[in-house]
Amino acid sequence: MIGIEGVSKSFSTKGAGLVTALNTVNLTIQDNEFFTLLGPSGCGKTTLLRLIGGFEAPTTGKIRIGDIDAASLPPQKRPVNTVFQSYALFPHMTIAENVAFGLQMLKVPKADIDQRVRAALSMVRLDNYASRSPRQLSGGQQQRVALARALAPRPKVLLLDEPLSALDLKLRKEMQSELKRLQRETGITFILVTHDQEEALAMSDRIAVMSAGNILQMGEPREIYDNPQSHFVADFIGESNVIPGTVLGRDPAIMIAVRPERVAVSPAMNAGQGRARGTIASVTFLGLDTLYEVTLDGGSKVRSRCRDAELSLTAGQSVVVDWPSGVERHLLN
Ligand code: ATP
Repeated sequence: MIGIEGVSKSFSTKGAGLVTALNTVNLTIQDNEFFTLLGPSGCGKTTLLRLIGGFEAPTTGKIRIGDIDAASLPPQKRPVNTVFQSYALFPHMTIAENVAFGLQMLKVPKADIDQRVRAALSMVRLDNYASRSPRQLSGGQQQRVALARALAPRPKVLLLDEPLSALDLKLRKEMQSELKRLQRETGITFILVTHDQEEALAMSDRIAVMSAGNILQMGEPREIYDNPQSHFVADFIGESNVIPGTVLGRDPAIMIAVRPERVAVSPAMNAGQGRARGTIASVTFLGLDTLYEVTLDGGSKVRSRCRDAELSLTAGQSVVVDWPSGVERHLLN
């Protein structure tokens, strides 16, 4: 559906000179895919979304939408719609008028507009709100209206720029499953921008993890979680212990990543036990799990998340840490 081929984007600024927001990015997004651009603030994800939407032009490289070179398509001619972080509803229009607006711009016949507005509002479960004004709705409801408005013209691609970031945690979780349901029901390609790794893991078919204008790793959520290829990805997606090879008596050139839930910790009894020895630095009770932070004899810190209620280790105690051999990853950088 979307091809990003060798795309770079630089902005010239007064203070900082030329700022590179994207650095030769290549990526293909499939039809019907829920694709997420994930990364910290400033990594270039919004810039990439804006390039796909046509709000910016690439400095170099090509963007293809379907079989067409997007350079020849202004934003309003692209089969693409955007849901912004700020819902940007028209305050003086009713909910139905807000949803109808894009259809009127596309010159859809009046009778079809009414029917499509009803269908779009029903899709986001706001059937009974058509005649209200936006200020009579909650934040979550307004976000649903913004979604209905973007879906009503039946775009082939929906761009979502941190659409849930203004919502509280409970509503966010609800809207995550709503978005997933809408994507499945409509078959529209969704491209989501977020810095929230849990959100990305929960919703996406595939994720591209970005840092400093580059895509560092791309794949299905489980693949990225289980096989992070760099220190950055191991740290950014979920929690990871990243331990220098030297601390474990291994090759000093490598770093080893292992998830806290894979690390077992037990009282130090005799030599040769486990992978490394250390001392419990802190114990945090998390309800179902307990988090132990262990300072290894070599100096690194390792976290272990255990479900064993009987363990009851205390700070200052000598322990050994261990994990099964299949669960550690060797990082490239
Ligand atoms: P956030 O999550 O904070 O929105 P982001 O990953 O979406 O971050 P971008 O908005 O794509 O990041 O910005 C990438 C880089 O490009 C940043 O360093 C930003 O300051 C810079 N940048 C973006 N837009 C412009 C612009 N119009 N002029 C100058 N620099 C810009």
